[in-house]
Amino acid sequence: MTTFTTVTVVGASLAGLHAARGLRSLGYDGRLVVVGEERHRPYDRPPLSKEFLTGDGDPGEGPGGLALTDPEEEAELDAEWLLGVRAEALDTAAGEIRLTGGRALRTDGVVIATGATPRTLPLPRLDGVHTLRTLDDATRLRAALRAGAARVVVIGAGFIGAEVASSCAALGLDVTVVEAAPLPLVPQLGEEMARVCAGLHARGGATLLCGTGVEGLRGSGRVTGVELTDGRVLPADVVVVGVGVRPVTGWLEGSGLALDDGVRCDAGCVTALPNVVAVGDVARLAQPGTVRTVRAEHWTSGMLQGAVAARNLLAGSTVEPFEALPYFWSDQYGARIQYAGRRAPGDSVRIVEGDPADGGGFLAVYERGGISTAALGIDRPRPFMRLRRELARAPQPAGR
Ligand SMILES: Cc1cc2nc3c(=O)[nH]c(=O)nc-3n(C[C@H](O)[C@H](O)[C@H](O)COP(=O)(O)OP(=O)(O)OC[C@H]3O[C@@H](n4cnc5c(N)ncnc54)[C@H](O)[C@@H]3O)c2cc1C
Repeated sequence: MTTFTTVTVVGASLAGLHAARGLRSLGYDGRLVVVGEERHRPYDRPPLSKEFLTGDGDPGEGPGGLALTDPEEEAELDAEWLLGVRAEALDTAAGEIRLTGGRALRTDGVVIATGATPRTLPLPRLDGVHTLRTLDDATRLRAALRAGAARVVVIGAGFIGAEVASSCAALGLDVTVVEAAPLPLVPQLGEEMARVCAGLHARGGATLLCGTGVEGLRGSGRVTGVELTDGRVLPADVVVVGVGVRPVTGWLEGSGLALDDGVRCDAGCVTALPNVVAVGDVARLAQPGTVRTVRAEHWTSGMLQGAVAARNLLAGSTVEPFEALPYFWSDQYGARIQYAGRRAPGDSVRIVEGDPADGGGFLAVYERGGISTAALGIDRPRPFMRLRRELARAPQPAGR
């Protein structure tokens, strides 16, 4: 086991917290520092586009709260929390992290957990235009939606865009979702199932416009509308831009670490340096047996990678690869969508329970060469979880 004097976790959110927990549960008893740019203790992001927007949920602890830790656990973790502090640079040769304000933090172990940040569009900066990643973003958006907004335009029909649209529809607002692709979510779900999910917008009372981009915004000071590339103008009191995220790696430029749409790691979250690991949305992991690398943007990956990375960091090299089957869920218009597995373009889809046409929920299995590669469920949580467990145990086609 490598002996560290100080391990610093950069990013005080889901993956960073789980790495910190992993380190302590594996017996690391040295100095543990957690640096977080947000002023908040770790909190859960998934509710931000769902019940936090529609409800009056308290961002803190307790039922309905978002906090991922409580004072008792924080005492047990025995970490130094540097919150509202940004890591500006990592000097791997000197063993230092430079923080905002010029302060340098000496550290011999590093967990990179800086997550992802929303992509933006080249649009003018106007009041009423929002992105959604943080609790502060969600608090601002929630206030805007309750301040008399009637018409909302969501740009991008990915999972976050669809969830925001669903929440706005639940609040009784007039919602239009604009998607540049002919159909949203095809890369994630394949065309057949993407079409079913796209149908949820109409079911929930929102309008989905596909195959058109955004040309610009109307309004001076405050947004009044969205100009589309096909010439239409959509009146809007609030605009939410949900066009995906990019991993937060800017602070690692010059560190010598390999950056390629994320921090390049081996299959066990270890970078080219054995004392630096990366976890969660920022980590791009090698896939054993393939030349492919994967960066997941799912809650479950972020949570599970923390423990694996902690083990490998303390071991000094990868002794445990991260092998969990990819899994995510999304809640839209009262429907729970769950997906697990590794589908690839060309996989066939077989409905094994229910009927997508009747709107009452169903279970689908993706297959290739007679082998199940992935599963999708809508409103079938129990059988879906059974399928997910079976998939995790089953052999995968070569190269997955
Ligand atoms: C609105 C929303 C809804 C979601 N819903 C779902 C869902 O339904 N299902 C699902 O599977 N997944 C969902 N996700 C995705 C899931 O929340 C993420 O995969 C997860 O939060 C990733 O955790 P992370 O710790 O890797 O990164 P993050 O949660 O992004 O945390 C990274 C942290 O690092 C901090 N940071 C960044 N740079 C620095 C720096 N230089 N110095 C210090 N700190 C820094 C950031 O401020 C942030 O607090 C959702 C995400 C969002 C935003």
